[in-house]
Amino acid sequence: MKHTPFVSKSADQPQKLAALKQAWQEWTTSPDILARLTRRLSTTLSLENQLTIFAEEAATVVPFDSLQYRHRIAKQDFVFSTGLGGPHRAEYRLNLEGAHFGTLTLLRRKRFTEEELGGIEMLIGTAICPIRNACQFIALEQTARTDALTGIPNKRALDEDLARTSHLSDRHQETYSLILLDLDHFKAVNDIHGHLVGDQILRLTAESMERTLRVSDSIFRFGGEEFAVLLPHTASNEAREVADRLREAVTNTIFERGDIRVGVTASCGVSTHMQGESAEQWLTRADEALYRAKREGRNQTRISATISGGQ
Ligand code: GH3
Ligand code: MG
Ligand code: MG
Repeated sequence: MKHTPFVSKSADQPQKLAALKQAWQEWTTSPDILARLTRRLSTTLSLENQLTIFAEEAATVVPFDSLQYRHRIAKQDFVFSTGLGGPHRAEYRLNLEGAHFGTLTLLRRKRFTEEELGGIEMLIGTAICPIRNACQFIALEQTARTDALTGIPNKRALDEDLARTSHLSDRHQETYSLILLDLDHFKAVNDIHGHLVGDQILRLTAESMERTLRVSDSIFRFGGEEFAVLLPHTASNEAREVADRLREAVTNTIFERGDIRVGVTASCGVSTHMQGESAEQWLTRADEALYRAKREGRNQTRISATISGGQ
């Protein structure tokens, strides 16, 4: 491969450096709204921050009562809104290179003039690349938190949520419980029916667990054939009922193909967060309870002992 040196031999290098210095001063102090908008948008990858910047800059040239933005990113609705609306709206579908990046709407009591609409379009033209990047960043973050096989949040997401929940539990004295659910003798399912059937059972299991839970509960794929469920405002007795409902849902999930019918059972360990306990300690107690459920015969739920006693 031919190597191109990045060494300029031009004699006018001092002049070029001087021009760069002047351009830099103009760029950083310019009252030009497009330069300022571009500069400010480039400082953040947060879509929320970008939309706030856009709203602030747009308001300096086109007064409005409300700016709204809506987009579905990685199966989740992202909604941003400032102020209260009005009957007149200027609505833009943000499209770049054939892909859609949300709908931006300005609302106000007074009708928008043609000049104003033209101005908004220029601002959107300047903002659309950074907004596209911010949307893609959210999608990537979402992918990093999602298990590829089942589509539910993964271990990394669990670690983040457990740490946050431990703090919340300590600060607000809220009761949170954690369930670990592990499929029984799953290695045998793979050995007898093959890995692809095993994968399909894992998918079906995740789906039926999701259907069993309330919207406020969160489910994660914690490991190979192990799932975790985080239950807000739930004490251990109630969590045990949820765990038993989940086990029942798993047992009722049957994989069928031709003559083959495969069902599995599951064991659960439950722990309720104790004041001052780290996420790791909380998780370890659920794991110990799960280990007892396995050791004592599987297809059952065990609760981790707390200060007030467990079983
Ligand atoms: P136990 O009742 O003690 O939990 O027994 P087990 O066989 O379920 O547990 P063990 O830890 O011995 O084996 C877990 C098995 O889960 C081994 C592996 O083949 C299977 N497994 C883990 N991840 C996947 C996966 O992504 N797909 C499939 N098909 N199987 C998996
Ligand atoms: Mg298992
Ligand atoms: Mg396991």
